Amino acid sequence: MSAIEFKNLSKNYGPLLALNDINLSIEEGEFFGLLGPNGAGKTTLISILAGLCRPSHGHVKVMGHDVQTDFRAARRLLGIVPQELVFDPFFNVRETLKFQSGYFGINNNDAWIDEIMHHLGLTDKADKNMRALSGGMKRRVLVAQALVHRPPVIVLDEPTAGVDVELRQSLWKFISRLNQEGHTIVLTTHYLEEAEQLCNRIAMLKKGQIVALDSTANLLKRVKNPNAKDGDL
Ligand code: ATP
Repeated sequence: MSAIEFKNLSKNYGPLLALNDINLSIEEGEFFGLLGPNGAGKTTLISILAGLCRPSHGHVKVMGHDVQTDFRAARRLLGIVPQELVFDPFFNVRETLKFQSGYFGINNNDAWIDEIMHHLGLTDKADKNMRALSGGMKRRVLVAQALVHRPPVIVLDEPTAGVDVELRQSLWKFISRLNQEGHTIVLTTHYLEEAEQLCNRIAMLKKGQIVALDSTANLLKRVKNPNAKDGDL
């Protein structure tokens, strides 16, 4: 069974075709990269996956559960790290993570919350209010929040945009460990170098269409070969 399956997925925003007939299966255990320039449709694809917006055509399934018709089951299987830093400013870090656990009906989650905070360098910020954290620290909480219910599929939408080297390294170390333990990881990024280091397979999205889909090694060969057919990658 695929971890995520997009089937004939299209999305119109009025006259704009943001996604144009996307067909893509991401297998369980993959570290999958979704690359593309600004406006390619990456966030729209993730938003549909997260149930935040409806596709105009087609459907998406998470481990066999259709996001449109079986949302609660699909959502439970997903840990989503969105781009926007949206929190209750009056919660502290631990309360934020406990609240998220409560959303999934998990009450005794303190040991796992402590472990996540440790790996993301948040332990000494546990009692700080969200409004008093720096942007980079807030981004760490965003990642922690996505992991509280131990989702088998983790989707990160440009998680390292504007964050320092230290967070990048600790984040990738932790996410790579989760991947080695069997979690499926989907990462959207603008940076081929980042995807190259982490992902086993990459899809390149351009103007709402997949223009290349291959193993990272093959894709790099094509990008670096000036005679490649996909010269406009
Ligand atoms: P970025 O790398 O800049 O985040 P992206 O690949 O995530 O870009 P999307 O944010 O999915 O791209 O945008 C795809 C297209 O859809 C863009 O042309 C964008 O302007 C348009 N778009 C996105 N959201 C909306 C919306 N709510 N209403 C209208 N148009 C939208």
